[in-house]
This record gives sequence, C-alpha cells and structure tokens, in this order.
Amino acid sequence: MPSRCYTICLMPGDGIGPEVIGSAREVLTAVAGMSGAVSLSFEEHRIGHEAYSEGLEPLSETAIQAALGADAVLVGAVDTVSFPEHVAQPTRTLRERLEVRASVRPSRNLRGVPSRFDGVDLVVVREVTEGLYAGIEEYVGQDEVRAARVVTRAASARAARVAFETAARRRKKVTVVHKLGALPLSDGMFVGAAREVAREFPDVELELRNVDACAMEMVEHPERLDVVLSTNAFGDILSDVAAGVAGGIGIAPSACVGTHGSYFEPVHGTAPDIAGRGVANPIAAILTAAMMLRHLGEEGLAVAVEEAVERVLAEGRHLTADLGGNATSAEVTSAVIRQLTVGG
Ligand code: ATP
Ligand code: MG
Repeated sequence: MPSRCYTICLMPGDGIGPEVIGSAREVLTAVAGMSGAVSLSFEEHRIGHEAYSEGLEPLSETAIQAALGADAVLVGAVDTVSFPEHVAQPTRTLRERLEVRASVRPSRNLRGVPSRFDGVDLVVVREVTEGLYAGIEEYVGQDEVRAARVVTRAASARAARVAFETAARRRKKVTVVHKLGALPLSDGMFVGAAREVAREFPDVELELRNVDACAMEMVEHPERLDVVLSTNAFGDILSDVAAGVAGGIGIAPSACVGTHGSYFEPVHGTAPDIAGRGVANPIAAILTAAMMLRHLGEEGLAVAVEEAVERVLAEGRHLTADLGGNATSAEVTSAVIRQLTVGG
C-alpha cells in the first residue's frame, strides 16, 4: 500500500504545454506505481490564453486555491503575448500568490545531447521579485529615463536560502554573482544577506564572482560552478547562458520556489510553430517532473526518472526533431517509461 501521498496540481497551459504535461503525467504515474510506496493524485486546471479565448478566466481563483493547497504544481507553458493589456498574466499572478522567491534552473550535460561544452552541471538560482525588474522606470524630463534597482535584505536572504539548500544537496558551493565595483550598496546588500544565510550552512562554501567574470567562467570552466546565486537581471541572462551551454531548450527544466508553494515548469514556451502535431520534445517537462519529485523529498524517484531519460538520450533511437531524430512525443515518453527502474 502506498504510504506517501501527494496532490499534484497540473496546469497544462497553451500550445505544446498540454502535450508535454501529458507526457510528464504518464511518467510520474509510472514511476510512482513502480515504487509501490508513493501515490500521486492529480488535479488538473486549465489556465492560459486558450482558456481565456473560450470565455474562461486565464487563471481562476479555484485554480489558485488548488495550487496553494497542492504539494506541488506542474505548469506547461502559458502564451504571454496574446493577452490584452488589462488582463493579468496568469504566471505573474501565480508567482505573486505563491510568493515565489527564487527561480531555480539546473543545467547539465546529458549523454546523447550534442553540446558545445563538457562538464556542465550547475544550477542558477535567481531572485525574481525585485532587482532591476522591480518595475520602477520613469522619465525625468523628456530626454532622460531612470530605472531603479531595488534590493532588500529580506528578498535577498530568501533567494540565498534556496541557493544554500540546493548546494547542500549537491557539490556544496554557492557562487554569489555581483558587480560590487559599480553597485556597492545594492550588491553589498545582496552579498551581505547571502553571507548571513551562509552561516547556517557551515558545510557549504561561499565564493563571490563579478557577473562578467561568471559569464566567462560558465563557458570556459563550467565544471567549476555548482550553484550560482544572482539578483534578478543578472540571473535572467546567466540562466539562459547556462541553458545554452548544455544542449538547449528541449531538455531544460526549472522551478519557482515560493513561500506558499512551488511550481515547476519547463524553460521552453508554448512553441506555436509545432503545437498540436505531437512532435514536441517532452524531455524538458519530464525532467521538470523529476525536479518536482526531488522537491517533494522523493530523491529516489527523481533519480529514476533522470536516469531513464539519460538512457533514452544515450541510446539515441527515440529522439524528437530538435535533437536530430524523428520520434513523436508519445514515442519518447514510452521509451522513457520502458527505461524506468526503481530502487535497483
Ligand atoms: P513563448 O512566447 O510561449 O515563449 P516562443 O515561440 O517565444 O513562445 P518557445 O516556445 O520556447 O518560445 O520556442 C522557441 C523555439 O524552440 C521554437 O522554434 C520552438 O518550436 C522550439 N521549442 C520550444 N520548446 C520545444 C520542445 N519542447 N520541443 C521541441 N522544440 C521546442
Ligand atoms: Mg518566448
């Protein structure tokens, strides 16, 4: 009899979202079934632009309550460009309601995925509530604009805690990204908060790196990086660099860790050019599901899913077009499920 039960809120979203979330759900069901100890109950809620265009709310209060009540939330992708300006973006609302404090994006080489760089196995943890994207930008006269960069000790410490918790489960190093020479006060605050949090994690090393030097290190010696902790705008750029160095968007997972819950989402968008054809690469969503399992404390199942994905990629027989193959999403999903082995 399963002894550990989790409620998973699914928000498939738009475009290829429902296709890849369907694949992730199949893999989750299979791995939980094989474990014998875990049961997952799924609650699905429609969100996004397709729901909106059918007269539904893009993110209903019912869906928000389900997300708040669930053990974890798995999101496909939401079309962010088609909403009229007066309609709140569903993912932004979700972030606010869950009080998301950091975005977590692992990036690593997977056997079978062509990549320009070797030895990549790092995680970018990005503060996502303030910094340069705090939304404070204004004209000062006609020919000058000022944008404010907001850094608070509290938000910095929340993001830092996510980084240190992540590093404690990995190679135990946090690289704090900054530009102290140009931004001594705001980055001084950010670095100071990280140092405070570091005291609670005596086993985890903290090092400082200028953001420009860190970008270079990511492409020259990515193997030296474990967890990279960054303010909002620097992290936006660095997390795309990190995804790019390790094989691209079809395999890149991410998490948004919040105070009232966390949601998990592949890095890719709705991919309107391939939506509805059953050819989207489901691996990003499947690896996102693995991240979610790890977050739930189900490390063994997370590893089982990741290893199954790696075997399918290394074998190279069931790959979607973005990885040079001609398999459908369903074929890749079945191949991953066939490769699952739990607890052995
Ligand atoms: P959005 O506005 O929703 O972010 P987008 O088109 O800007 O959509 P993506 O959806 O990430 O950005 O797509 C970028 C490119 O990557 C597209 O050519 C798309 O087909 C491709 N792509 C994205 N995700 C996948 C996937 N899972 N499998 C295969 N190709 C993908
Ligand atoms: Mg996009």
